Amino acid sequence: MPNWVDTSWEVTLPTDKVTRFLNYFLTSDDRDKLRGKFLYRTFIVEESVNVTETSKGISFLSFVSDSAWSLGSIFETGKEDKYGVSRCIGLEDLCKDCDVISLTARGDEPMMCFREFIEYVQGENLCYSSEEVTPWMCEKCHTMGYWEDEDSNADRTICPSCKEKFEEEEDE
Ligand SMILES: [Zn+2]
Repeated sequence: MPNWVDTSWEVTLPTDKVTRFLNYFLTSDDRDKLRGKFLYRTFIVEESVNVTETSKGISFLSFVSDSAWSLGSIFETGKEDKYGVSRCIGLEDLCKDCDVISLTARGDEPMMCFREFIEYVQGENLCYSSEEVTPWMCEKCHTMGYWEDEDSNADRTICPSCKEKFEEEEDE
């Protein structure tokens, strides 16, 4: 089983390209048999799609996807199907194909504890970065979260949610 990266997307693009953009995402295991090019290992959560026309002909699109292993999957273009045809469009080519004006994607991998960020602005190169994060979990209020780097002064011995002192790991 792969691990999964949950990703929140925010995209500004021409309204008449919204459907085309969304069609590059997989929706089920067999979707790739039915379509032309697609984003490798990346499944859209269809209920999460939200489109708002912010000005004439321009829309703001938000949605959530799940990528197997890492957001690195969506840069993959070289995978070939059994006919030797590469059917994966990399994200940058997708952005150009759909005249994307700006795009951000924030990925969160809660099991192996890393985050990934993608930023794209029309006419510039796509930027990708990732960071490891340290999770915390409170036994009392059952809240989970991550310590943020900018909170380096935070007291990591108490729960940020309910302020209960974390139990110390017992030494044998
Ligand atoms: Zn708590």
